[in-house]
Amino acid sequence: MKIAVLPGDGIGPEIVAEAVKVLKALELPLTLQSAPVGGAAYEAFGHPLPPATLALAQEADAVLFGAVGDWKYDKLERALRPEQAILGLRKNLGLFANFRPALCYAELTHASSLKPELVGGLDILILRELTGDIYFGTPRGRRTAVDGHFPGSEEAFDTMRYSRPEIERIAHLAFQAAGKRRGKVTSVDKANVLETSQLWKDVVTEVHAQYPAVQLEHMYVDNAAMQLVKAPKSFDVIVTGNLFGDILSDEAAMLTGSIGMLPSASLDRNGKGLYEPSHGSAPDIAGKGIANPLATILSAAMMLRYSLNQPESAARIEAAVQSVLAQGLRTGDIWSEGCEKVGTRAMGDAVVTALKTTMTITKS
Ligand code: NAD
Repeated sequence: MKIAVLPGDGIGPEIVAEAVKVLKALELPLTLQSAPVGGAAYEAFGHPLPPATLALAQEADAVLFGAVGDWKYDKLERALRPEQAILGLRKNLGLFANFRPALCYAELTHASSLKPELVGGLDILILRELTGDIYFGTPRGRRTAVDGHFPGSEEAFDTMRYSRPEIERIAHLAFQAAGKRRGKVTSVDKANVLETSQLWKDVVTEVHAQYPAVQLEHMYVDNAAMQLVKAPKSFDVIVTGNLFGDILSDEAAMLTGSIGMLPSASLDRNGKGLYEPSHGSAPDIAGKGIANPLATILSAAMMLRYSLNQPESAARIEAAVQSVLAQGLRTGDIWSEGCEKVGTRAMGDAVVTALKTTMTITKS
């Protein structure tokens, strides 16, 4: 099993090192090969996604990704900014489905800004379409307006666009995922205003006919944003387009209290995927050894489950993470009174120790 390891920028290398440590401790036949991406790749090769990095990702069975970006690159032309590496990887690897679970661990309920009774036991999955929508619609650009409210003035435009097959394939994944969970899909759109959303709603409804055991509800995105903070546990699987999914998945992440805990997976049609924490490169804490590596470690667990067909190893990692939390170990972002504050490396070491303990118990 070949894994391309792309640490990236900021805290990326620190947190990926811990996930690699955990993967190696599993003693599986894994080949891990690293390459620069994002700002690090721009510094070394003049491009955020150099051909060699892309080739490594294409040849691998799965990609373990850290994070990219730093404010120092904000003045670069858009095509050379670190974040373009993510868009390039999604496009070239055909990654169209972004799975972002938002899980609130019992030990961390207090870390949420919501009342414990609203988030305790929260377990929702946001499925975001990745290849269509306003991020990829053409044409996009700037020009002098010839009509509208301010003709003659400078204007910018991006086109929201979705095609039936793009909606069908993500809808199937949503119903299949819900079938293995609590059996409910909420499809989020803005069909009262947008034609793109009306197509989305119609197609999701049609696909639903093939999954009679799964309940489907439609919700406008503004209402979904409200319901996520009012009654988050009323959701099971949320499926939505690229733009709404980008925003709602961050909102859902914050319900759990720490973005440092949340993994994500972006999959192609064959189950090959890119796995990364839900957070960014956190330049404010980079190099300090205090970043929480658990989101990346849990992303490695998702990789074992979704792309490498190793569900038992995935479950072992998840149990080991649960165990370190139960021991009271916390990085700064999730620390509270009475817990032991640890750094990035110590947290990774603790997961490895817990993993070895559960492996020993399983073997004996
Ligand atoms: P961010 O997620 O990097 O950081 C937001 C806050 O959360 C910061 O205070 C940070 O210290 C904290 N944080 C994030 N991850 C943490 C962790 N593992 N442990 C402890 N604390 C953590 O978001 P931002 O500050 O808006 O963006 C910073 C850079 O990351 C930008 O350049 C942005 O473009 C980039 N970014 C990259 C990705 C990606 O690589 N997929 C995603 C989002 C943002």
